[in-house]
Amino acid sequence: MKCADVLIIGGGLAGLTAAIELSTKGYRVVVVEKKPYPRHKVCGEYISQEIVPYMQGIGVNLIANDFPQIDTLQLSAQNGPAVSVKLPLGGIGISRYELDNLLYEKCIYNNVKFIFSTVTNVQFNSDDFKVTIESNPKIKAGLVFGAFGKRSNLDVSLKRRTPRQKSPWLAVKCHYEYGKHPSNVVGLHNFEGGYAGISQVEKGKINLCYLASFESFKSYGNIEAFNAEVVSKNPFLAEFLSNAIPVFQNPLSIAQISFGKRPLVSNHILMCGDTAGIIHPLCGNGMAMAIHGAYIAASVAHKFLSGYELSRTSMEKQYEKEWNAHFKNRIRLGEWLQSVMLHTKWFNLGLRTIAKSDYLLQSIIRQTHGTPILN
Ligand SMILES: Cc1cc2nc3c(=O)[nH]c(=O)nc-3n(C[C@H](O)[C@H](O)[C@H](O)COP(=O)(O)OP(=O)(O)OC[C@H]3O[C@@H](n4cnc5c(N)ncnc54)[C@H](O)[C@@H]3O)c2cc1C
Repeated sequence: MKCADVLIIGGGLAGLTAAIELSTKGYRVVVVEKKPYPRHKVCGEYISQEIVPYMQGIGVNLIANDFPQIDTLQLSAQNGPAVSVKLPLGGIGISRYELDNLLYEKCIYNNVKFIFSTVTNVQFNSDDFKVTIESNPKIKAGLVFGAFGKRSNLDVSLKRRTPRQKSPWLAVKCHYEYGKHPSNVVGLHNFEGGYAGISQVEKGKINLCYLASFESFKSYGNIEAFNAEVVSKNPFLAEFLSNAIPVFQNPLSIAQISFGKRPLVSNHILMCGDTAGIIHPLCGNGMAMAIHGAYIAASVAHKFLSGYELSRTSMEKQYEKEWNAHFKNRIRLGEWLQSVMLHTKWFNLGLRTIAKSDYLLQSIIRQTHGTPILN
């Protein structure tokens, strides 16, 4: 049986960040990921500046490259006003195709081992794990991180979700060219039953990504009809979609999404990224949270693995404490903001109030974001 100090299930932003941190400290790290790199992913692709210096520190350069610098948020209601405000920290437009691949390359440089397959089961036996991987021998590991994203086969086998639990959202993403959208602006535009984020990524491409309730989507049955009949009721989105040309042959979509906090430790596995908790995408902070959370998990894991500071139980408690201190309130605020944004009357009223003072909106944005990671 092969052995690893740490096995990480899922090589998205959280899993790759944890792999870089732990391999830099000298541990033997294995990442099991379903899909090879580079690959597109459903995401708004606006990443907060709060993690840029940290990424630089771990050897992932987001500064030297010519990624769009975003400093303004534009908000609009379907039948109401539009407001623009300067973002307190701002962010970068970068595709997941590019970003995940940059982290993957750093992992390869650090000698992290990758297995491109699916983890089907994890057993904890007194002080180590046996991890079952589709069509591969079992791997023994001293510690396992769960970074398998919003939804996985493992949620059910680890009893983190029942098969009947409701996941009422779907998301659609496509890159476009020739559309009109300024490179320094991230737009957030509401429509009946959902909202769309729009921003530039590298090479002048524009990403349009929206979240819609399955309830509002189901009677249209396909993305083209939904774009024409529902998304385009918002005048900003109508104008964009009528000029822009899709780069993808077909938009990407994912269904059965739910939001909120989840167990941070299950069967002694430390969960990070979306597996630990999913913030509503309108906050534009899920990627930074996934990276920051993975940094926290790797830091407490180091105190356990190095054998002198924390026992397994105290490591798990420490992780829960630090994660909650950083992210619990942001997830709650995101829930509240999303319910306001999807309520046409309240959202209209809210935008009219906000239009009178940038300060109010900026202070809400500050509370959905964190401060730069200090490592
Ligand atoms: C519509 C939408 C728009 C968003 N827009 C933004 C935005 O603009 N800005 C922002 O900061 N955040 C945004 N987010 C949030 C952001 O996308 C996530 O928070 C982020 O991707 C979380 O990273 P992760 O590593 O936890 O999960 P993921 O990136 O989903 O990675 C999980 C990985 O695990 C793998 N996996 C799953 N199960 C297994 C298994 N059993 N075995 C092996 N591998 C497995 C998957 O293949 C996947 O690669 C958005 C989210 C949504 C839904």
